[in-house]
Amino acid sequence: MTAKIIDGKAIAADLRGKVADAVHRLSRDRGITPGLAVVLVGNNPASESYVASKIKMTAGSGMRSFDHRLPKETSGAELLGLIARLNADPTVHGILVQLPLPSQIDAHKIIAAVDPAKDVDGFNPVNAGRLSAGLPGLAPCTPLGCILLAKTVQPSLQGLETVVIGRSNIVGKPLAQLLLAENATVTVAHSKTRELPAVCRRADVLFAAVGRPELVRHDWVKPGATVIDVGVNRVTGAAGRPRIVGDVAFTEVAQIAGAITPVPGGAGPMTIACLLANTVRAACAIAGLREPAFGQRPSDDRE
Ligand code: NAP
Repeated sequence: MTAKIIDGKAIAADLRGKVADAVHRLSRDRGITPGLAVVLVGNNPASESYVASKIKMTAGSGMRSFDHRLPKETSGAELLGLIARLNADPTVHGILVQLPLPSQIDAHKIIAAVDPAKDVDGFNPVNAGRLSAGLPGLAPCTPLGCILLAKTVQPSLQGLETVVIGRSNIVGKPLAQLLLAENATVTVAHSKTRELPAVCRRADVLFAAVGRPELVRHDWVKPGATVIDVGVNRVTGAAGRPRIVGDVAFTEVAQIAGAITPVPGGAGPMTIACLLANTVRAACAIAGLREPAFGQRPSDDRE
């Protein structure tokens, strides 16, 4: 193995430490304790586990955590009612609605109903538009985490060739926008891209957000490139044991890449840390205070 392993757990722990310091200062100097409301509808086991981690880490960073569990039969109107109450609640600075939602609820309507100032997931169309227009706003957590991971290897992404595989609204597209804001040259690939391995081989920094186990092979990667693997795929391993793998064939790609994130322990831990950072930023923006610099957006470097 030649690649440097990018330790997402340690980098996320460092970011959570900075968030906890910022929370402490806000509460001591301004009397503001940031509050994050997490809404879970139904009992999808993966969602329950994500929500439990989010609640634990929110409280661990000194913030207030508000836990809203609704039955799986909840109607769209009932959920909109809760969102309206959270939008109006001054102790709530961030609102996260755990996806996916049950099929009777229109997720687009719910996301659009969250106050953009409290939209710490960055999925509201207002925040997506602000990101695309290069205006300040709340950006999605997983892409923010990917940028921080890449910057631990390449402190400046300016002028670098970057390739993002995947164009979802929650990862691929916002990641491409954040990379443009870093002055990287950005190619977004997807299921209809021709000659995908050759496209990927152009990348100085390659991001895989696909949801296909070990799609990216060693001959898709330029020697020395940085590889950030966002994929979380549950597969059956040796002896029928379930295990999680990324979108990158880690062992073989690590022979050629300069640096690589593992799965688990790479992009995953960064998502929650960035959610906490977004909640502090939201609390500051709502109070009209300067937002703390967590190094996630190019504007942070100028602060
Ligand atoms: P998604 O909405 O399913 O989007 C997948 C994207 O990959 C689509 O743009 C799709 O192209 C593209 N794609 C699918 N098969 C492809 C192929 N064979 N070649 C090239 N492109 C292909 O998934 P997502 O929500 O963005 O998530 C992607 C992965 O990241 C999943 O494994 C997910 O679990 C993981 N994830 C992890 C975190 C975290 O915290 N670590 C957070 C979010 C997501 P089309 O647009 O053409 O269909």
